Amino acid sequence: MIAVKGFRGGVHPPTNKHLTEDKPIRKASEPARAIVLLSQHTGAPCEPLVKVGDYVKVGQKIGDSKAFVSASVHSPVSGKVASIEPWIHPALGKKVPAVIIDSDGQSTLHESVTPKGSAESLSQEEIRAIIRESGLVGLGGACFPTAVKVSPPKGKTIDTFLLNGAECEPYLTADHRIMLERADLVVEGAKALMRAAGVRKGIICIEDNKADAVKAVERALRGVSGLEIAVLPTHYPQGAEKQLIKAVLGREVPPPPGLPLDVGVVVSNVGTAAALATTLRTGLPLISRIVTVTGQSVVEPSNLEVKIGTLFSSVIQDCGGLKGEPGKLIMGGPMMGVAQYTMEAPVVKGTSGLLVMSPEEAREEEGTNCIRCGRCVEACPVNLMPLFIRAYTEAGKWDMVERYDAFDCIECGCCAYVCPAKIPLVQWIRLGKNELMSRRKGGK
Ligand code: SF4
Ligand code: SF4
Repeated sequence: MIAVKGFRGGVHPPTNKHLTEDKPIRKASEPARAIVLLSQHTGAPCEPLVKVGDYVKVGQKIGDSKAFVSASVHSPVSGKVASIEPWIHPALGKKVPAVIIDSDGQSTLHESVTPKGSAESLSQEEIRAIIRESGLVGLGGACFPTAVKVSPPKGKTIDTFLLNGAECEPYLTADHRIMLERADLVVEGAKALMRAAGVRKGIICIEDNKADAVKAVERALRGVSGLEIAVLPTHYPQGAEKQLIKAVLGREVPPPPGLPLDVGVVVSNVGTAAALATTLRTGLPLISRIVTVTGQSVVEPSNLEVKIGTLFSSVIQDCGGLKGEPGKLIMGGPMMGVAQYTMEAPVVKGTSGLLVMSPEEAREEEGTNCIRCGRCVEACPVNLMPLFIRAYTEAGKWDMVERYDAFDCIECGCCAYVCPAKIPLVQWIRLGKNELMSRRKGGK
């Protein structure tokens, strides 16, 4: 096992994983209507490949883009395209075009859905093409197209592939259950990703609060060469790419636009690896994912395998519905998740969890004045000074917001978590970043 090095800053929030960590993955009900957003990834949105009235089958490609940085989308059900119209995107908080399909309940597979082979039987180019065609993206939440990740530009040498099973975000247990129940898929997918990227050394990184998952992956690794495990002390935000690289390899990724490949590393989530292995075995593209549905307001917190395009309201109903009036719905976890204003958004490729907090859990204390205690600076894992970014944002001093490296912020929430004055620092920093961005676009 690998000796880990750790990273600077970070926090140790209550993990609250007990609600679902022992709940085996079960299949969610099939959606009667699937809302497939045409933009679920980092990069260019897809164009629809179908029109209203078309009959589509499970696994059929219904949206694609010619852009290099993009990921195709596929139908999760068989049935008729009812409409193509804008629908709310749960991560962006605005409407984007979506293909809406009324299921016929038959789950008829598309002809393209046939087993593809194994990591050993396929060439590097073949695996890359399968990844591209399957619409695979990073399932940890970043949604960066995997086909791009495993195709490093010429001149960049990658020596290590990190499989991210840290799952440091409180409440979420989807990756934990995948490693526990589908360790063979994680290992098979890891081998395929490594072959696609041309990397011989892989490390599966797991936090030490998932001892059973470590054992399951160890068993699946018996007789496999080139892959080992790193067990990491539980520490938020260890699952963030740059912090993981620092913690496991001691390498420092340069500030943006610096990338992991600048230090010879590619990082991919364990759920992404398992999804690729499923595609290789069955031929099914990315049409479902594991979602942790949790929080005090959910009747039966669960880990569900959900078809992409299922409405949040149906997923929550599948878990027994709500206990009374909810306080807050978040897609993802409490630290880096996105608060939702409607339950009528669909599950997208980046939906790792749905957290429904009770009104008591969701209650936020009123912020007071900064007392210059410096705790936010200590907690920031990327060495920023959140108090100053916030103050300059409030004052509208945009050159200073930029000078204090607001763009380096990974929005992990550590600063706000430790702030004794309860200042919503992340919201302020986000505001500063958005303003800087629109000023750049507007040439100000
Ligand atoms: S400033 Fe950004 S990166 Fe630093 S702790 Fe706050 S949210 Fe995290
Ligand atoms: S933690 Fe809060 S109170 Fe302390 S310096 Fe930072 S912003 Fe100010």
